[in-house]
Formats: sequence, structure tokens, C-alpha cells
Amino acid sequence: MSTQAKKGIVITNARMIDGTGQDPVENTVIFIEGERIKTITTKDALDGQPLEDYYEIDVKGKTVLPGLIEGHYHISYTDVLELSDLDLKLPPEECTVLAAQNGELILRCGYTSVFSAGALHRVDVALRDLIEAGRMVGPRLLASGRDICPTSGMLDWNPSYWKLGMEGLAIFADGVDEVRKAAREIMRDRANMIKIYLTGEGLLRPWMPQEETMMTKEEVAAVTDEARRRNRMVMAHSRGADGVKICVETGVHVIHHATMADQEAIDMIAANKEKHFVVPALGLTYATANFAADYGVPEAVIKDGLHQEEYEEGCKVMKKLKEAGVRVLPGGDYGFAWCPHGKEAMDLELFVRDMGFTPMETLVAATKWGSEIMRMEDDVGTLEAGKFADILVVEGDPLKDITLFQDRSNIQLVMKGGEIMCNQLGLPQMLTPEHTIEEHRARVEETLGYKPGALGNPEVSESALQQKRNDMFAQLLART
Ligand SMILES: [Zn+2]
Repeated sequence: MSTQAKKGIVITNARMIDGTGQDPVENTVIFIEGERIKTITTKDALDGQPLEDYYEIDVKGKTVLPGLIEGHYHISYTDVLELSDLDLKLPPEECTVLAAQNGELILRCGYTSVFSAGALHRVDVALRDLIEAGRMVGPRLLASGRDICPTSGMLDWNPSYWKLGMEGLAIFADGVDEVRKAAREIMRDRANMIKIYLTGEGLLRPWMPQEETMMTKEEVAAVTDEARRRNRMVMAHSRGADGVKICVETGVHVIHHATMADQEAIDMIAANKEKHFVVPALGLTYATANFAADYGVPEAVIKDGLHQEEYEEGCKVMKKLKEAGVRVLPGGDYGFAWCPHGKEAMDLELFVRDMGFTPMETLVAATKWGSEIMRMEDDVGTLEAGKFADILVVEGDPLKDITLFQDRSNIQLVMKGGEIMCNQLGLPQMLTPEHTIEEHRARVEETLGYKPGALGNPEVSESALQQKRNDMFAQLLART
């Protein structure tokens, strides 16, 4: 679109949910100049003021809200079928290209910012910089690079007699000196934050059960000390109660999972709620319990991994944390075959259905709190004058139906930094149109040589978008 002669874009007739938790405002008018929101007003307050200096997008009463923020994102994981896929399946080159596609896909799904929870080969660092430089299209990204894991910790899954080690995903470090060095290496690689693997994981039971803690308090404290002096954040994979307590005692900013926190651990987080974020990442746990069998994961492994039990327990923990005023954020570990990229919005549904959040609370967690976990609250997360114009237009009312984000035909427009990334309103856009999740997955299949997963739930498919296209073709045919 040619906006050179115009001052910018004005979105009119919007029903705005601004991300702060306040009620929707009808007839909102949002002025955007350059990459930021200039002013927000209402049609009445405009008082007939002409809009011709702006390119007008009349959204006809549709809901407008801040771009969503994903709190546990693995840009470099692509349709992982088993954990060893993570370090063995793809060389860095293919991994990077697929990661770039994953980044594009999540943007199309309405997520304009993402918080990396670990990446292979510092792929997220590279993509962050390329996206920021405008050389690629993708979400705003905070990168964490490779993870720190102790010997026999969660990422040390390759048996020693395979003599493989672990190149891409983890730095293995033991003892205070080694973890300090690993933290420094990650910062040298220009990551925004440092991820550590503190406890076990259901997919690795019985050898590394969720409740076992593999790092000492001293080791974790060494990482948080390094990070504090360099103004970086630390996050931990910590499912079990003991690990969560170490996170609070040592000042780990973001506690991922916390699904098996006991009352003492919950109370400890609650007493320090300004300092911590909790991202349960229960999307993967839920999907593993319900859909992994369709992708060849043996029933016994699913059952023995206690995924269903962990899901139920985790939901109870999140309810308690939420009631205590702790910031619990959506972000679901997507990137596995049965829990693939493109399905991130399922987390919003789980928050409402199983974790005691109202739809409005869920949206605040996915927007405003998301900006806080990213330390970008001055720039993103809510619709306010002066912030980046990271804006979604959706069909339907997310306060009545939080699942609507899972059907991309409802994502009518995604704007990031004042630029239309994709839309269904007939406007020019940055991304190529007609690029669905299915098409993305077909490309994955071509590259990897096997059929990637689509979460085994027909309701979250793109059937509506497909129907729309069929209708369009029918109309075209009728014309000839
Ligand atoms: Zn993860």
C-alpha cells in the first residue's frame, strides 16, 4: 500500500480489548504512525474529524487486541517425535531454515512476540537479530541460545556408550565453576537469558522423573549470580517441588512447568510474586497424554510418564498460583509432532477450561504479562499510545469463545510494528497470502521425509479457511 503521502494508518470501528483487563471499548479509533500507536480515541470523541490523512482500515466492529505473546517457545524444535530427534535429526542448516518457517507461522497465528525457552545452536539468537534488522519476517523474539544441563540431567539422554555427547542443544556443566563458565558462554553467544535444566521430565521416566532435582542450589545460585551482574534473566525447567523451591531461593526469574509444586513451593512463589513468572507449558503435557499415541509413542511410555497425572496436578497448582496473584503465563512447549507449531493458541483454551482463568484473565496473561516477562512493558503487551502497533483483528468475541484463536480463519489481521504481516481483509501484506498451517506442514514433510503431526483434534483444523477458499473457487467458476 502506498502510505507515503499519508501520515499512517487508522483503524476504525474497532471493539478494543486493550490487554489491561478493562472491559472492551466499542467504536474505538486507533491512529498508527510509523511503527507505533499515536493515539487511541473513540468515534464520538473524534467529533467528525476527517481521517483522510490516514489509510483507513474499517474493521466493522470486529475485536481488536494486542498481539499475543508466547511464554515458552522453541523456534528450533520442529515436529520432534522423540527427544533424541532434538539433537540428532537435523543439522544446523536445515534446523535454521525450518526455525525461520516456524517463526513466520507463529506470527500468522497472531503471536507478535515470543519468549524463547531454549534453542539449538543459538538459532534463536540469529533469527532474533535477522528479524530485528528487518531481513526476515517473524515475531519479536527474546533468545536464550543453548541450555545449561548437568551430567545425568534432563538433556543428557543419550547413553554414554553411544559416545555422542550433545552438540546443539545443551552445554553440560557440573559444579559451580563449570556452570559459571557455561552461563558466560551463553552470554557471549548474545542470548538475552539463560535456561537451566533443574529437574526431570515425564518423557524420561523412570530414569529422570519429574520430581528429581539434578542441579544443586549452589550451581543454580552461580548461574543467577552471573546473570544478575550482567542484567540477564534466568529460567529453569523445573517440574518438581524441590526444584521450584531452589528457583525461589536463588532468584530464578522464570519457573517453567512448576507442575508438581507442593503447598510450600506455591507459598514460596506467592511470597515473592513480584520477582517470578510461572509458565506451566501444559500444552505439551496435555497433548502427550491425549495425542502422542497417534504418533507412535507407546501407550506404556505415556502411562508410565504420568503425563495425565501431571496435567491434572499442574492445573491445580496453577489455580492456586493464580489465586495468590502470581503471574502464570500461556506458553506450551509446541514443536513436537503431537503438539506442533501453529497450535500455540490451544494454551489459551486450557487456561480457561482447566486452570481457573477467565477469558479476560487469560488474555491479560497472554498480552500484558507477556510484555512483563519480556521486560518490554513500555513497548508491547497493551494497546496504548506510544507502544508498538502490534495489533490483532479477530472475528468473533474471545471473551465468549477463547478457542477462536485456534482457527486461523478468525485471525483477520496481524500487525507488527505498524506493518500488516498478514490479513484476510484484502489489504496488502508482508507475508505471502494463502499460506496455511497445512501448507507449512507439507513443506516440513518434504524436508523431513515423514508426515508431521497435526494435533489430533478436528476442531482446531483450518477447515473454515479451506471452506472459504472452496467458496471463492466456486464463485470464480460460476463467473466463467
Ligand atoms: Zn520446553
